[in-house]
Amino acid sequence: MKLARRMDSFEESATMEIGGKITRLNAQGRDIISFAAGEPDFDTPDFIKQAAVNAINKGFNKYTPVAGNDAIKTAIIEFTQKTLGVTYAKNEVIVSLGAKHSLYNISQALFDEWDEVIIFSPYWVSYPNQVLLAGAKPVFVNCDAKNGFMPDIDDLKKKITPATKAIILNSPCNPTGAVYSNEIIRKIAEIAVEDDIILISDEIYDAIVYDGARPLSPVQLGDDVKKQTILVNGFSKTFSMTGWRLGYSLASADVTTAMVKIQSQSTSNPVTPMQYAAVEALKDLSFLAPRLEEFRKRRDVIVKALNSLDGVKCTTPTGAFYVFPDFSGWIGKKIDGEEIKDSASLANLLIEKAEIGPVPGAAFGAENHLRFSYALSEKQITEGMRRLSAFAAKLTD
Ligand SMILES: *Cc1c(COP(=O)(O)O)cnc(C)c1O
Repeated sequence: MKLARRMDSFEESATMEIGGKITRLNAQGRDIISFAAGEPDFDTPDFIKQAAVNAINKGFNKYTPVAGNDAIKTAIIEFTQKTLGVTYAKNEVIVSLGAKHSLYNISQALFDEWDEVIIFSPYWVSYPNQVLLAGAKPVFVNCDAKNGFMPDIDDLKKKITPATKAIILNSPCNPTGAVYSNEIIRKIAEIAVEDDIILISDEIYDAIVYDGARPLSPVQLGDDVKKQTILVNGFSKTFSMTGWRLGYSLASADVTTAMVKIQSQSTSNPVTPMQYAAVEALKDLSFLAPRLEEFRKRRDVIVKALNSLDGVKCTTPTGAFYVFPDFSGWIGKKIDGEEIKDSASLANLLIEKAEIGPVPGAAFGAENHLRFSYALSEKQITEGMRRLSAFAAKLTD
């Protein structure tokens, strides 16, 4: 069948592809430890599961308004008021089927052909692809490992043109785990307000932070910035609810109305019983602290193990559950006569010869890096790092 031309303009999600490959190989009898997970390994807390069961049993199984029912909108507004100290109205909230869906609605509602959208690189794989799918042009601004993966503000200023429509922000960041400093957020916000550029702030990891990190949301910088910002968040990461598909955005009423219009012709409302469960979820985050402590321990184990390897450099991130080490020192080396050419060939060789599966940095726009998720048990991390170290011992020039 002849597919639409737009199918050539973007790519399938690389992280999902790698995850799928490892699952397939393991089903064939291999024992590959996957470091590719883009989701917490913890289960959804019981009280949230129970709330969903109750909602189903009570008969909350019909359509709701497209943007979500009143209860979930109110719960999100109150939660945001409590966590960020910022107030939104009900017509400024739309609940979608995951934050990825929120971002998709945003890209369809806002981006025209010729629009340029600034994305900080390394980036989450869906940002450039959603921009391309909307017919617009992604423009990349560098975040150097040497600066803790903070955006280079001079590079940002250079990349802004009259066609710049939006800047996508993601702090804490996937894949680097970086939490942007308040100063960087302020500078980006200043530029956005001055040049009338929309800020799309993906804050899906805002609660997954360590060492006292407190990510600043641009919407906390006053009304001027808030008006200019679309805040995206969701339930997947904080509440371990990836499979439930629930995310939301907070933005001015005109943008929200446009997103509702798109959602009304595509998915309609987010899954009804899950909306009821989400209301309960937002009431009690006490389950999270022990999980964060567990994540932090694992982060320390993996960072230490990676930095003990010759030719590998790994910063210690203070957010999300990924590390993004630099393997430049391994590029050009050989294992069993096979050359490591780039991050993709390194990732493939690691699957084949070390039975561990990180994601190649190229998927996130950063060659020579690999992304390791630490959303797996400390035991698996330790065993995975032992395998990596055995692989390292076999490298030749
Ligand atoms: C996981 C993730 C999302 C999307 O999560 P949903 O499951 O669609 O809510 C969005 N942005 C980033 C950076 C992510 O890592």
